[in-house]
Amino acid sequence: MRWLRNRGYRAVDLAEAWAGLEVGDDLSKTVVLTFDDGYRDFYTEALEVLKQCGFTATIFLTTDRIRNTPARIEGVEYLTWSEVRELHAAGMRFGSHTVTHADLRSLALDQLEYEVGHSKEIIEQKLGVPVDSFSYPFAFPEEDKDFMRYLEDLLNNLGFEYGVSTILGRASRKSNRFFLPRLPVNNWDDISMLRAKVEGGYDWLHWPQLLKKVMFHHATIMQQSPKAI
Ligand SMILES: [Zn+2]
Repeated sequence: MRWLRNRGYRAVDLAEAWAGLEVGDDLSKTVVLTFDDGYRDFYTEALEVLKQCGFTATIFLTTDRIRNTPARIEGVEYLTWSEVRELHAAGMRFGSHTVTHADLRSLALDQLEYEVGHSKEIIEQKLGVPVDSFSYPFAFPEEDKDFMRYLEDLLNNLGFEYGVSTILGRASRKSNRFFLPRLPVNNWDDISMLRAKVEGGYDWLHWPQLLKKVMFHHATIMQQSPKAI
C-alpha cells in the first residue's frame, strides 16, 4: 500500500473507476482495492494502513458469516456488523459475496437468486445505503457463456451495477462490468512483482488461464458424453 501511495496511485471505488473508463480518463495511476469474504483482519490490520495511505477499499461480504460477535469458520475470524458499520463510516465500501459462499453454478435458479439478492438486501438493511457491487465466489467460469449471461441478467435485474471476478488482468472499457478482472496480490509478492502486476506486466497471464479453463471445460463435456465427440 505504501509503495502504491509513494508512486502516486490513488484508490477509488468501482463506480468512479468505471465512470473513468467510460469517458476514457487516464487511469494509469488509479487502483480499486478489493477484499473478498469479510475477514476480521481487515478491521484489525488493514484499516490502519489504508487510512495512513488515504485509500478506500471495497469489502465483499459473505453475509451469513457476518454476525453480532466474530464468527470463526474454518479457522478464520469474520467481521461483526458493528465493525462493518465502523469501517463504512471510515470510508470503506461494501458489496455482496453471496449469503453462504456457495458455488453458484451448482445451484437451482431460486437458490442462486437468494444467494445474490438476499446478501445485497441484508447489507443494505445493516448499512442503510444501496449496494451496487458483487464479487463472484470461487474461480469464475468465464468459459460457460450461458451461465455468464444468466448471471449478468440476474445481477442487472437485482440492481447491481458492477462486479469483480477471478479473471486475471486489469480492467478496460471492453471488460464486462459485472465480471471485472483483478490482480491477486499475495504476502509473498515483492515490490518488483507488485509493480509488474499493476503496470501491466502480467496482463498476458489471462490467456493461459482462459486456455486452461476452456480445455478443462471441454474435457468435462467429453467425460459426460463421450459418444458426442
Ligand atoms: Zn470468497
